[in-house]
Amino acid sequence: MVSSNAVTTKVTSGSPYQLDQNQVSRASSALLRHIKTQQVDKEKTATKKTLIGDNDDDSDAEDIPLNNEAVWLVLTTKKHVVDKNRLKPGKITIPHSLNASPSLSVCLITADPQRAVKNIVADESFPQHLTSRIDKVIGFSKLKSRYQSFESRRQLFSEHDVFLADDRIIMRLVKTLGKIFYKSSKRPIPVRIAEIEKVDGKKVKKDPKQRSKPNAEDSAFASPAIVAKEIEKALNSAAVQLAPATTAAIRVGSSNFTPQQLSENVEAVVKGLTDKFITKGWKNVKALHVKGANTMAMPIWLASELWVEEGDVVEKTADDDKAIEGAKNDKKRKQIEAGEGEKISEGGKKSKKPKAADDDEAASLSARKEKLQKQKAKALQDGEESGRKAAATPAKAEAGSTKKKRKQSVLRAARSQLNPSRAFNQPTASAYARLLSTLALLEQRDGQLQNSSLSAIAAAQKLGGPVTAFLAGSGVKGTSAVEAAKIKGLDKVMAVDNDAYEKGLPENYAPLLVENIKKGEFTHVVGSHSAFGKSLLPRVAALLDVQQVSDITGIESEDTFVRPIYAGNAILTVQSSDSIKVITVRGTAFQGTETEGGSAEIVEGSDPKAPAQTEWVSEELAKSERPDLGVASRVVSGGRGLKSKEEFDRVIVPLADSLGAAIGASRAAVDSGFADNSLQVGQTGKNVAPQLYLCAGISGAIQHLAGMKDSKVIAAINKDPDAPIFQVADVGLVGDLFEKVPEMTEKLKAQA
Ligand SMILES: Cc1cc2nc3c(=O)[nH]c(=O)nc-3n(C[C@H](O)[C@H](O)[C@H](O)COP(=O)(O)OP(=O)(O)OC[C@H]3O[C@@H](n4cnc5c(N)ncnc54)[C@H](O)[C@@H]3O)c2cc1C
Repeated sequence: MVSSNAVTTKVTSGSPYQLDQNQVSRASSALLRHIKTQQVDKEKTATKKTLIGDNDDDSDAEDIPLNNEAVWLVLTTKKHVVDKNRLKPGKITIPHSLNASPSLSVCLITADPQRAVKNIVADESFPQHLTSRIDKVIGFSKLKSRYQSFESRRQLFSEHDVFLADDRIIMRLVKTLGKIFYKSSKRPIPVRIAEIEKVDGKKVKKDPKQRSKPNAEDSAFASPAIVAKEIEKALNSAAVQLAPATTAAIRVGSSNFTPQQLSENVEAVVKGLTDKFITKGWKNVKALHVKGANTMAMPIWLASELWVEEGDVVEKTADDDKAIEGAKNDKKRKQIEAGEGEKISEGGKKSKKPKAADDDEAASLSARKEKLQKQKAKALQDGEESGRKAAATPAKAEAGSTKKKRKQSVLRAARSQLNPSRAFNQPTASAYARLLSTLALLEQRDGQLQNSSLSAIAAAQKLGGPVTAFLAGSGVKGTSAVEAAKIKGLDKVMAVDNDAYEKGLPENYAPLLVENIKKGEFTHVVGSHSAFGKSLLPRVAALLDVQQVSDITGIESEDTFVRPIYAGNAILTVQSSDSIKVITVRGTAFQGTETEGGSAEIVEGSDPKAPAQTEWVSEELAKSERPDLGVASRVVSGGRGLKSKEEFDRVIVPLADSLGAAIGASRAAVDSGFADNSLQVGQTGKNVAPQLYLCAGISGAIQHLAGMKDSKVIAAINKDPDAPIFQVADVGLVGDLFEKVPEMTEKLKAQA
């Protein structure tokens, strides 16, 4: 009898290589129940309202993304899938279609000439229910020439729900369509629409040499009835494309399936995979799970053996046992391998290393380890003492190079003692914080401190230890340095008065900063991830021979930082082992610097007066009365939906005026010349986190979201109810922006 808490159950009779139907339906029910509870909770707790859903009638309910989350079967194999034939895209027919919606939009990519397939689809005998769903038929060469840019591919991707591709050209699509398709669930599904040659009722394979030549014969297509049947089959299939790895995910259902439907699809896909796609079939399967996009994976089958072949398991010998026991170190695996090597060469030869030598090595290893541990403990003790002395007599803080080396080695030793996953502000960390000293880079313009650079101070304070602010430019000691000295929590403000640094040219600013970092023996240098920080700090890092850590959003410890990657789609925790950490910080993640209440001492920085080959000539600044986009509390943004610069100015500007907001734009709007480059919001533009981010005619591409998703309230106007922006919007309005935005502007003006 299986306990109800068992992770998986196995069939009690017959081969272990089969699914237990009970387990599949148990996992399916639990998963679907969990997704639905998550959806209900999300609806209840979210301040967002699904305004899009309100407009839809019941028949379209399944199309609302919230109610239709994909469910995946995750396959883990014991051995990597390497066979090229098995890595080709394929499909497995399933009993419950994933593409049943009548409003489905299908794009069919064919071998050339596309006209032939267009004629087939338009043929009278071609079923009407398919013709109405196939919105686009495109030949391979046209696809290649028309969709060269990332932007155009993205548009194609968003225009259709399903992509079917002629199996003769499907392998070439990987390069043509790129990762936008192949990192999504919309990978083209293969369809066989070529005319199959038959001799005596049997399929005949073409001569591969002839096949590579693009001739008319190659492009022969089957009859409309066969093409329709193939397309129908593809739409009722789960697309499979295994990666040359040990895991693969195959979409098998949706959250609006019943558990019964989901289990039937799972069973069909598992059968198809083990019969056709995985080398050695069931024997090579390690695990099967079902999961939703944001859920844990529910196991449905777990292998009891980790290896495919018995021979893959290394036999344990008596010698191995002794070796492992004697050494008691983590070289266990190597020793087993060595033992095996000896076994292979055993044919009369004696083992190369006598057993006594093995024992000696193990003994010297453990002695070395012990010695190292003692050294570490001593270094740690020294560090604590020197930290205490430094705190008691700050005047003695000017240490020579020997002390610097010691400080760094102490830091290293301290780091190895600290559990890296432990939160940095735990009591143990405070002792090490005294060993840190941070230089926060500030930006100034015409003697005025730039608020955007205050995030560097917030991050530096989070690191712990003394913080010194740094600025340079003409007459800064009497202007921005005085302003900076009032910032709470600063120990010193280091200022260098020199006209040469006024414009912050990285070519001469970098040697200046490096000189002061070295003299001040700073362990951390922090700057804002602004244009200034981004152009200056990589040079500084290069001159110091360390690696920069860019655009961090969190600090876990003095050497461990959190940063978004892939336009914010993944969060990376990085640990730096460099002696000096050069860091840029994301402004929206480090806020709350108090600009009043401090009384830091202003000290003279060292000026190397390094010659620069670059000279500042002139600048053209877009002057605006509006709040600065980076720090504004309200932002109104426009996208490609605005159609032209004239329309952008006519529609967006008055709305921003009536809200007293800064103006932003998507990259598509900037690239099309609707708005100035400085207004771009997103991964390659500015990061904003205002109280209100109101956008119109912006689809919500991840690169755009990367720059604004931290906004407190996001409001979006878009005529497409499926636009991704609605997935992050707190308030959404589906409609034509040329109608809705002026209407809203009028209402706001009337209220003012
Ligand atoms: C490396 C890289 C970096 C990038 N960096 C950025 C970045 O920093 N910032 C950025 O924004 N993008 C960036 N992009 C581009 C990004 O991928 C998108 O292409 C871009 O954000 C699309 O801009 P959009 O939403 O204005 O245009 P589209 O995606 O074309 O969307 C236009 C939207 O307007 C809607 N619309 C059209 N007419 C109307 C109407 N009359 N009424 C209402 N709605 C209407 C449409 O439904 C559509 O949703 C980057 C891309 C790459 C590859």
